[in-house]
Amino acid sequence: MRFANQVAIVTGAGRGIGRAIALRLANEGARIAIVSRTEKNSIAVAEEINAKHLGLAKPYAVDVADHAAVQKLCGQILEDFTRVDVLVNNAGVTKDGLSMRMSPEDWDTVIATNLKGAFNFYQGVVRAMMKQRSGRIINIASVSGLMGNAGQANYAASKAGLIAFTKVIARELASRGITANSVAPGFIATDMTDVLPEKIKEEVIKEIPVGRFGDGEDIAAAVAFLASGEAKYITGQTLSVDGGMVMM
Ligand code: NAP
Repeated sequence: MRFANQVAIVTGAGRGIGRAIALRLANEGARIAIVSRTEKNSIAVAEEINAKHLGLAKPYAVDVADHAAVQKLCGQILEDFTRVDVLVNNAGVTKDGLSMRMSPEDWDTVIATNLKGAFNFYQGVVRAMMKQRSGRIINIASVSGLMGNAGQANYAASKAGLIAFTKVIARELASRGITANSVAPGFIATDMTDVLPEKIKEEVIKEIPVGRFGDGEDIAAAVAFLASGEAKYITGQTLSVDGGMVMM
């Protein structure tokens, strides 16, 4: 029960990796704000958690890209839970296409969701964490942001930006007892990768030393470690959880 008496916000927790992170933190005792864009998805995950651990989870719906709405929501979450110990910026989208043909709308949507969305939640909680003189911020990046990936100019730029943003806030907040780290998943079996054609999946698997896609629990385990007291001397880092795809 590493997170007993702690409060965590997980964005994009209505499905996939975010859902796995929320379940993991709740299983270890955290009270959780489940944030998704689609209300029914956050309600379903909150109900799933509350069925096992009564009253631990509360669902919220917001577009993470909307700065004003996110500030309002963070105020609401702080009112509901009175504190916030862990922020996991996990909400993300892909809008893939070759860079020379990519529409400015697809560029903007991905940057606004994946990069600005994290900045928005950060601004919504950072003052509360500073007052507490403790906090853990974990941003879900991607191998794409470390090595680039053809067809993902917008996505790779958003994730590389997220890694740089994490390093900046890690430096700014270290003296306040707050750490900030990134987790860079490789290919994880979720709705996001389910849409890939079988042929592409086979090609991708050839590039993964362990020879398979990961699952949400693999990412959740890394997030739980970085969010725990055991990681108190780790900040500004990027932890790849990718079956060995990127080795630095
Ligand atoms: P997913 O199954 O597509 O789920 C994405 C989640 O993000 C959903 O809960 C979705 O909300 C939420 N979301 C998307 N746009 C949002 C917005 N504007 N406002 C609020 N919530 C929004 O994706 P996933 O595979 O779990 O990915 C989670 C994170 O891991 C993403 O940041 C992704 O880039 C990263 N990642 C994934 C992989 C992979 O292989 N799957 C690899 C590397 C990195 P709704 O449920 O309401 O739609």
